[in-house]
Amino acid sequence: MSVKWGLIGASTIAKQFMVNAIRVQADGKIAAVMSSDPERGQAYAVENNIPLAVSTLDELFDEDIDAVYISTTNELHLEQALAAIKAGKHVLCEKPLALTGADARTMVAAARAAGVVIGTNHHLRNAGAHRAMREAIATGHIGKPIAARVFHSVYLPENLQGWRIRKPEAGGGVVLDITVHDVDTLRFVLRDDPVDVSAFTQSAGMAGSGLEDGAMCIWRFKSGLIAQSHEGFTTRYADTGFEVHGSEGSLIARNVMTQKPVGSVILRTASGEEELSFDHEDLYFRSVRRFHCAIHGDGHPAATGEDGIWSLASAEAALQSASSGKAVKIDPKLGSMK
Ligand code: NDP
Repeated sequence: MSVKWGLIGASTIAKQFMVNAIRVQADGKIAAVMSSDPERGQAYAVENNIPLAVSTLDELFDEDIDAVYISTTNELHLEQALAAIKAGKHVLCEKPLALTGADARTMVAAARAAGVVIGTNHHLRNAGAHRAMREAIATGHIGKPIAARVFHSVYLPENLQGWRIRKPEAGGGVVLDITVHDVDTLRFVLRDDPVDVSAFTQSAGMAGSGLEDGAMCIWRFKSGLIAQSHEGFTTRYADTGFEVHGSEGSLIARNVMTQKPVGSVILRTASGEEELSFDHEDLYFRSVRRFHCAIHGDGHPAATGEDGIWSLASAEAALQSASSGKAVKIDPKLGSMK
């Protein structure tokens, strides 16, 4: 049984990664793309070999589609997801799910009530490097995890220097863009949830309109582990990395906070250093594969709707901390959705 997709948003991420990720699935088909601009939508459809371009959600839902992939700007995700859910479509939504944790909860609760699958496209969980780290920790290779560090400060490519650095109302800023990914990856690798965050943000020269283009966050997790994460748009020459330090060893990963299935992970213990092997499946291929399985009743999306609530509630708390100068508790209120 094939999964027929409608794309909501004629976006860069769909063009660069997701169109192909859907097409490589044996059962994946793209039926149509929706763009608010009919002319641009038509050009996008031609360029990406998509049979149909439409300019309203109603036209999209009239097509024979099973699922939608939402990759519009962040302020549109909620309304578009709710409409898709109402039309009975499964929803794979880009991060952040919405602009607030409360809106993300509304979205996930609606999907649950309608019995459709909702997933968050946190691609990093699908990286072999992160899955290898998660496995090494779960099997006790580093003993009790004590501390973690994520370095995920990059240089925002010129073609993406638009709403992210200019439009607060569209959910711009590095925290909603990158911190959400970092906190999700920490949760996934550590199998632990953050409870408090203390954050500083900056505008280092790229972002305007009061938006932040750099952030440093300190997270406290339920287990007592503390973590730091650094997100940025303005550091042209920085590497990315992820380290977890435990009582019996450390995991030291480099070049792993990326969209590509690359990087390295070293396990360092009393016995010396060992490079961990991991699979190099494309992160987005795996995200769609897992989503298709979930539609077919086999497991969950790689990052569920609840995971998207967690990452957004955490990012929201980081922004509150940065503006108040105080540590903020993280409360995803998942209980209220039951
Ligand atoms: P884009 O800026 O490329 O696209 C967002 C929207 O902007 C599109 O839906 C489109 O509107 C409009 N748009 C696109 N190109 C143009 C243009 N040339 N002129 C005018 N309007 C245009 O955003 P991204 O692809 O970078 O991000 C989209 C979403 O995906 C965001 O939620 C982001 O957070 C997320 N994202 C996730 C990533 C991941 O790895 N998980 C990576 C990158 C982004 P319309 O649909 O109406 O045509």
